[in-house]
Amino acid sequence: MFNTNTIARFNQLETPFYYYDLNLLSTTLQACKDAADPYNFHVHYAMKANFNSKVFDVIQSYGFGADCVSGNEVKAAIQHGFDKGKVVFAGVGKSDKEINEALDQQIFCFNVESVQELQIINDLAKAKNKTASVAIRINPNVDAHTHHFITTGLEENKFGVNTWELPAVVEALGKCTNLRFQGIHFHIGSQITDMDVYKNLCTRVNELQQWFEERGLPVKVLNVGGGLGVDYNNPDQNPICDFESYFKVFKQFLNIKPNQEVHFELGRALVAQSASLISRVLYVKNGIKKNFLILDAGMTELIRPMLYQAYHQIENLSREPSGENTNPDLSIPNSIKYDVVGPICESTDCFRKDVDLPVSYRGDLIAVRTAGAYGEVMASGYNLRDRVQSVYSY
Ligand SMILES: *Cc1c(COP(=O)(O)O)cnc(C)c1O
Repeated sequence: MFNTNTIARFNQLETPFYYYDLNLLSTTLQACKDAADPYNFHVHYAMKANFNSKVFDVIQSYGFGADCVSGNEVKAAIQHGFDKGKVVFAGVGKSDKEINEALDQQIFCFNVESVQELQIINDLAKAKNKTASVAIRINPNVDAHTHHFITTGLEENKFGVNTWELPAVVEALGKCTNLRFQGIHFHIGSQITDMDVYKNLCTRVNELQQWFEERGLPVKVLNVGGGLGVDYNNPDQNPICDFESYFKVFKQFLNIKPNQEVHFELGRALVAQSASLISRVLYVKNGIKKNFLILDAGMTELIRPMLYQAYHQIENLSREPSGENTNPDLSIPNSIKYDVVGPICESTDCFRKDVDLPVSYRGDLIAVRTAGAYGEVMASGYNLRDRVQSVYSY
């Protein structure tokens, strides 16, 4: 994946840092656009996945909308040139301050997650003599078949309005004079790779839009969220998601009426493969039970493995990949299993256990792949660590 020039460049740099391949990012965005445009599908970028400002500007330049989950994300999206008419604001706990700021910006839509929130947005809009556009985020109770830590569309999850509460939503919408009902919104989880999950979602969306229409509420927007997964195991073989198959499922199984808009909110699928976390081996600890590679990057730079047991491909860029042992003295192995860990004072600060790697040494460059989504954005200053740097492809 990394050519010798790139590795030579890495060798000159202080670690750790995120390395962004902006060419791959552009190719990915173009592939997504090419797959969505023929169907007239609207794609919003879920900016919480990565708001590195260079990355964000590239995404903006492709004309995507922005899916925001905080008031500051709304502000940042508009500052970076995203069209206000394509900014949506989701989130299970929007504060009054955030709602007021978004009302002032005249964003496209609030994705509302409870009856109580509907009433609050209505009150705040009324105080400003404004009308807020809202979509109802519904919890469809569809299993995303992904890791339970990143499942959001089951009744046990905190997100969205459960279907048994929908009559109360309709009643509230009838009373809230400062709200304009736009449509219905769903987001059932992340890192979804099974297209049948989306097929099941379509079935539920069809039933629910019918339910609203029958109650005199025309659904203008069907927002089916994001969650499309990437290949963490084979980043080089599958650097770009199969956007065509993904959008095709919705074209095929969603009951799309004339003049209805279909919206998507993709995060991970647009950015994950475009970055790797590059670090160096600080120390090698060979023990009886375990061998440890202690890196100069840890959970403060990339917390996904520690936060939700996420898998990342790990490579030693300074040694040849470990193939068959060609060493005449077979007592010297050419690959070892290491627990690849960070320097942070927490036992969970481990990228992965029992990773097969070539025999590694202090100073070797280690790449943690597919780190472009929920990576740099979740970096923290725990242990008073330096802020992780970013490096970009030429
Ligand atoms: C996080 C999030 C997304 C994006 O999820 P990905 O798995 O990164 O595609 C979309 N919509 C909402 C409401 C979200 O919270």
